Amino acid sequence: MTEPTPTVNMDKLVSLCRRRGFIFPSSEIYGGLSGCWDYGPLGVELKRNVKEAWWQSIVQQRDDVVGLDASILMHPDVWRASGHVSGFSDPLVECKECHLRFRDDHLEGDRCPSCGGELMEARLFNLMFKTSIGPVENEAATVFLRPETAQGMFVNFQNVATTTRKQLPFGIAQIGKSFRNEITTGNFIFRSREFEQMEMEFFVKPGSDDEWFEYWVEERRNWYTDLGISPENLRLRPHGADELAHYAKYCSDIEYLFPMGWSELEGITNRADFDLKQHTEHSGKSLEYHDDAAGERYFPFTIEPAAGVDRAALAFLLDAYTEEPDKDETRVLLRLHPKLAPVKVAVLPLSRKENLASFARDVHADIRRTITSQYDDTQSIGRRYRRQDEIGTPLCVTIDFDSMEDKRVTIRERDTMGQIRVPVDGLSAVLAAKLAGEDIFVLPPGGEVWKNAGG
Ligand code: ATP
Repeated sequence: MTEPTPTVNMDKLVSLCRRRGFIFPSSEIYGGLSGCWDYGPLGVELKRNVKEAWWQSIVQQRDDVVGLDASILMHPDVWRASGHVSGFSDPLVECKECHLRFRDDHLEGDRCPSCGGELMEARLFNLMFKTSIGPVENEAATVFLRPETAQGMFVNFQNVATTTRKQLPFGIAQIGKSFRNEITTGNFIFRSREFEQMEMEFFVKPGSDDEWFEYWVEERRNWYTDLGISPENLRLRPHGADELAHYAKYCSDIEYLFPMGWSELEGITNRADFDLKQHTEHSGKSLEYHDDAAGERYFPFTIEPAAGVDRAALAFLLDAYTEEPDKDETRVLLRLHPKLAPVKVAVLPLSRKENLASFARDVHADIRRTITSQYDDTQSIGRRYRRQDEIGTPLCVTIDFDSMEDKRVTIRERDTMGQIRVPVDGLSAVLAAKLAGEDIFVLPPGGEVWKNAGG
């Protein structure tokens, strides 16, 4: 089998994201801040949709997982117990000539990739950001910005178990910011210093952990493909014993074929009973589970699917990015899944004339009550379609002068550019059905009845 090669050039995507308002460099007017990004009006919608899709599938559509929103700043002993103070480090090398710094395990060869100079001996560099809590700055007041969200779930294990009366197996999920002072950042939002994670700790009875691990690997892979990622751009990579984190029994990465090659999108780890035991030891509070049915007490094992919001958003954008020949030009479109598209429907009146505009505004007012939509009456209709294609809007509703007479509008599809003319009455329901992927029967004019083939 031949290896697939990445088809999308990162520079093109970065430029689209900048031009259309998805993602800007942080503090750009001051020259930017390395490893930090700002999500613009479309980027924030995309990111919210990614998080919403994850929360729905992990928490809301299941009985065995509950949510949590823990504080970013945690007691410093949390990070001593978890092993982050002593062990959350990457090997750093510095060039003797130009003094640039690199992650040793990311280097090919033993010379500086920038100037070819000789490199110093590698040393370990702790990735946690430090700050201080309270008005006095001293060692005792030092706290860390969390480098992962997972510890919030471990330290709250007993709180959640007792208040929800959940029996094993059950999980605790959280979405939130994490911070890592990465030695090298880059590849756009792939590796940044401030990012968001979507993590879930699934607690199981020891002995059932292998089965649950397989289950979660499959669930998580399906989540990406259900939301439109091409299966050939995903692969699983089990970690070798030499690269396992200190807490891991075993781990598999879901990798995506990014423009720079196969790289981690999400990690699924069997953390065994490491974290609950460590926190029990360091806090003096037992995090053992009371298995009433079996009359036993024990430390559950934990299966952790850990994903990055920003990395997932990048993979969805790359997978959706398409260039197609169109007449003499190239049509650029984002074939984003409707659930992820920042704007679901654009309402486009063919003219700004007052009577048409007021009709179109009424149509939009009705749609926006239930569907994220945009009203656009600038420039030619062709330019407006191109703009919506480029930001991934699945459906456009075009309103022309006939619309006021026959009370019908045109729905134009992003992917096929196919158009159908439908009654304005009941339009929102038709749009919702189309966004949900249901087929629509269009009955002959006059018989204004609608039916969803899939419904
Ligand atoms: P890497 O090997 O790429 O440094 P990791 O194995 O340290 O990543 P985890 O600790 O497993 O990453 O974090 C879980 C997920 O969080 C990753 O799969 C990724 O999606 C996301 N993530 C981790 N670090 C970053 C970062 N610096 N920028 C953006 N996302 C990140």
